[in-house]
Amino acid sequence: MTLKQNIPLKAFNSFACDINAKYFTTIQSNQDIEVAFDWFKQNNTPYLVLGSGSNILFTKEVEALVLKMEIKGIQKTNETASAVYLSVGAGENWHHFVSYCVQKGWGGIENLSLIPGTVGAAPIQNIGAYGVEVKETIEKITAFDTHTGEWVTLNKLDCDFGYRNSLFKKEKNRYIISKVDFCLQKQPKLRTDYGAIREVLHQKEIQNPSLEDISNAVVLIRTQKLPDPKKLGNAGSFFKNPTISKSQFETLKIKNDDIMAFPISDTEYKLAAGWLIEHCGWKGVKKGHIGCFEKQALVIVNYGNGTGKEILAFSEEIIQSVFQKFGVLLEKEVNVY
Ligand SMILES: Cc1cc2nc3c(=O)[nH]c(=O)nc-3n(C[C@H](O)[C@H](O)[C@H](O)COP(=O)(O)OP(=O)(O)OC[C@H]3O[C@@H](n4cnc5c(N)ncnc54)[C@H](O)[C@@H]3O)c2cc1C
Repeated sequence: MTLKQNIPLKAFNSFACDINAKYFTTIQSNQDIEVAFDWFKQNNTPYLVLGSGSNILFTKEVEALVLKMEIKGIQKTNETASAVYLSVGAGENWHHFVSYCVQKGWGGIENLSLIPGTVGAAPIQNIGAYGVEVKETIEKITAFDTHTGEWVTLNKLDCDFGYRNSLFKKEKNRYIISKVDFCLQKQPKLRTDYGAIREVLHQKEIQNPSLEDISNAVVLIRTQKLPDPKKLGNAGSFFKNPTISKSQFETLKIKNDDIMAFPISDTEYKLAAGWLIEHCGWKGVKKGHIGCFEKQALVIVNYGNGTGKEILAFSEEIIQSVFQKFGVLLEKEVNVY
């Protein structure tokens, strides 16, 4: 294991927060994970797994061993008449993997094009976009259980996936994921139900879209709507869309006729957090180095040298104002360190 000390993490987090890791190593194999585990046990040092750092907010120096996941490889493990089974290293770039599948004609994750990050982080918050969640294609996960010091294989049910949630978020910092197995479809049912995708296909006069058409449409929508972290620090949606009771929704609807929400069960509604934030007047607001993105209120941006603490304080102000106006408590989607 090549252990480095006092490594700047600015280039390794999409908010570009300028903090250091006390210890840092890259992980290229399962064996590297075992060696790192022995080291942090022996040295009584905490650890932090890092993919691409596109869903993490560093608010302080990292007094831990950072394990930068770089396990690569996409392997076909099985194929049937209708499906293909792939085993993918945790350090593969997510969008690279999506593009690879789209090119091969294997469907299921094309709506998740251009989400920044690694394959190993995708199950952590069960990444989702444009009507699709990654849990739909995950078969199993291979992970190192740091509580027992053993390797485990977790199937979909074990992972306890929910909206931007999973076992890995609930049992924070217990598992180190080394690979994810997917099942993709050879004759996929394309998901064009999302309004923005339909609109792009309509504009381009595409009536029978291919996987590539869907992926290109998603890339176009995302490029127009979201800030590029290489140019403007951000972590995508900062907050989750909150779930409220049907009765609370009906009360809110009386005063806010255009409130954006949809039913998720007979008794519950999911609200668009972006709508709530925008209607508290935050969209485009800038305070010092930090701001609420002008095209999407759900995204907090770092205009330059903002610190993690400033970003966190800004997010708390938003949470407070949404609660005061609507009585709805926003929950952070981003992992705060
Ligand atoms: C512009 C932008 C747009 C985005 N859009 C979306 C979107 O549409 N939908 C969506 O769901 N998300 C979105 N995100 C959030 C982010 O892309 C995803 O959460 C992504 O999966 C994070 O991957 P990462 O490798 O950068 O993870 P990191 O930020 O490095 O890590 C995130 C968390 O996972 C843990 N972790 C990472 N890898 C492993 C591993 N191998 N084993 C165990 N734990 C691990 C980390 O410790 C941390 O707690 C967006 C982010 C940005 C910047």
